[in-house]
Amino acid sequence: MKRIAIVGAGIGGLTAAIALARQNVECVVFERHATLPDDATGIEISPNAAAELHALGVAFEDDAVRPHGREIRRWRDNSTLARTDLSRYAAPYYTVRRGALIAALKSASPVRFGRRCVAIRNDPAGVVLGFDDGTITRADAVVGADGLHSAVRGVFSRELPRYSGFVASHTVMPMDAARPLAAPDRVLTWLGPKRHCLAYPIDGGRRLTLVVVEPQATPTAQNPPRDSLTNFLGWHPAVRGLLGLAGRLHRRALYDRPPLQHWQHHRAVLIGDAAHPMLPFLAQGAAQAIEDAATLARCLTAPDPFARYEELRRPRLARIAEATRAALRTFHFPDGEDQRRRDRAMAASPPDALDWLYAHRPG
Ligand SMILES: Cc1cc2nc3c(=O)[nH]c(=O)nc-3n(C[C@H](O)[C@H](O)[C@H](O)COP(=O)(O)OP(=O)(O)OC[C@H]3O[C@@H](n4cnc5c(N)ncnc54)[C@H](O)[C@@H]3O)c2cc1C
Repeated sequence: MKRIAIVGAGIGGLTAAIALARQNVECVVFERHATLPDDATGIEISPNAAAELHALGVAFEDDAVRPHGREIRRWRDNSTLARTDLSRYAAPYYTVRRGALIAALKSASPVRFGRRCVAIRNDPAGVVLGFDDGTITRADAVVGADGLHSAVRGVFSRELPRYSGFVASHTVMPMDAARPLAAPDRVLTWLGPKRHCLAYPIDGGRRLTLVVVEPQATPTAQNPPRDSLTNFLGWHPAVRGLLGLAGRLHRRALYDRPPLQHWQHHRAVLIGDAAHPMLPFLAQGAAQAIEDAATLARCLTAPDPFARYEELRRPRLARIAEATRAALRTFHFPDGEDQRRRDRAMAASPPDALDWLYAHRPG
């Protein structure tokens, strides 16, 4: 394969462009938007993904924070239920502004903006991609990195994303205001009945990202801007204080999809959310898109590269899907026996409990 078209300039598509270019493949990324927004919210980049970005020479550390640990805390009294020492991993755990990471990835990739892919067909010489401006392009293969509502996925399946029953609301605030309530050197997650909340530093520690995940009957329900505070009655003042500082939260309905039977077909292959969208309970969606991209590039010399990529990635994604389902069930227990059992299990979890996730190096 000499020329590969990548649809979607998200974290997955841009990482794939860098990784494939290193294998001497000519790559062009097609992005529907006219430009990439400077997204001010944060993202956690765990060591499994950071190791891949380092290997690809992606430089985004200037703006990023390297938290010492992740802590899970109890909603009512702020007590620590579990702690992960992040210094145990060979690569750092980063928290970073999404816009800064995207800018670092984009600086290394050719992107054609304003090109929404609407059609893909195989022809004897490769694939033909059609765009909504009426243009077409040919390539030897196409990588679908076009996210949850992937058009490339339409080659594989017609089913639609399914609403999870949860929304994530997020905001960013100055660390100076949040400092007495949050921890500028840690990722904090508070678990409580029906909902959880997390907070972590970004922008060199100058700002804090706050995320609330809670149930909502329909994806589009509009609640008053400060409803989260009334939903957090009885929560510890640290959480209520952060929510009070937050003002208006930006809501986003959370979706996933049932697993696809295959992520590759002829000359098309899916990565990231296009292949396996997941709820953000483990903060792994982007990390797995990065692992996908790096693995795909390493498979190019295999006799059937896309099939080899899928074979390598399937078990890993199945385990992450299972862990995400478990978190969906256990994160939001009301106080009671289930919650106490969960808390005891968390307290007893060994230091290497997350090594399978964070210390993993893909094939
Ligand atoms: C609240 C929340 C918090 C999260 N936190 C984390 C975290 O801390 N760590 C983590 O690893 N993950 C996290 N995730 C998950 C992560 O954001 C996603 O998994 C990740 O962004 C997926 O990357 P992607 O490149 O596959 O898709 P996307 O980021 O969705 O990118 C797809 C790109 O394709 C473009 N596109 C779409 N359709 C077309 C088309 N037809 N033609 C051309 N271009 C198209 C889009 O405009 C976009 O630029 C979180 C998710 C949520 C909702």
